[in-house]
Amino acid sequence: MERREFLGGAAAGVVAGATTVIGKSQAQTNSDTSKPNADGHLHSHEGASPSHSLLPSDPALRVKAIETLLVEKGLVDPAAVDAIIDQFEHNLGPKIGAAVVAKAWADPAFKKALMENAPKALASIGVVGSGAEQVIAVENTDKVHNVVVCTLCSCYPWGVLGLPPAWYKSEAYRSRVVREPRKVLAEFGINLPDQAEVRVWDSNSEMRYLVLPQRPKGTEAMNEAQLAALVSRDSMIGTGIPTV
Ligand code: FE
Repeated sequence: MERREFLGGAAAGVVAGATTVIGKSQAQTNSDTSKPNADGHLHSHEGASPSHSLLPSDPALRVKAIETLLVEKGLVDPAAVDAIIDQFEHNLGPKIGAAVVAKAWADPAFKKALMENAPKALASIGVVGSGAEQVIAVENTDKVHNVVVCTLCSCYPWGVLGLPPAWYKSEAYRSRVVREPRKVLAEFGINLPDQAEVRVWDSNSEMRYLVLPQRPKGTEAMNEAQLAALVSRDSMIGTGIPTV
C-alpha cells in the first residue's frame, strides 16, 4: 500500500516563464508579461496539503476510500492494482526514453527512423504499449528548442517517460508554458538565445511528444549506455538540457 504514496504527491506545482504553440492547434506568438519567481523555485505549494501534515491529502484519502469500497465489493483485486503500480514504478520510466535518445544520438539510421515514424522505430527496439504508439519525436537544434505540455489535462508519453511529474499536470505549467515559454524555461534553468525559436507542443490523447535533445559536445567517445546516463526526464520534455 505504501507504494501508492505517489498518489498523494500529485497536487500542486508551478513552474515559472515564448513563442510557437504547436500540436492539436496552430502556432502562435506570445509575449512575456509576468516575472519569474525570484528564487527560481519551481514548485508552488499553494493549495496543497502541508508537506508534513499527519493526514494524507484529500485526493489520496478519496482514492483510498474508493479503492476500499471496490475491494470490499469484489470489483477489484488488490494484487492486480499492485501489479499495475509495480509496472509503472519499475518497468516503465524515463530510462526507456533515455535509451531511445542515446540510440538516436549514436545511430543515424535509427534517428532518421525515429523522426519519420516514432512508433515504428520504438517498436523496432521493443518499446510498445502505454502510449508508445502515439509518440511523435521533435528534435532540438541550435535554432529550435521544443517543449511539451498538455494544456487540457496531462497527456504524456508514458511508454517512454513513465509517470508524469506533478508539475507537468499543474495548471500553472499548463497555462504559463504556452503564454511565456521562455520565462518558464528560464525558471527551469534554460536560457535560450533570442534568435532561437521555441516550439511548444500541445499533447493530446492521440499525440504525445518526445523531445530529442541535442547531444552534448565532448561525448563523441561515449557508448550508448554512457550517453543514456546523460539524458534526464526533463530533457525529453524540453524543460532540461543534457549535460556532461
Ligand atoms: Fe491530457
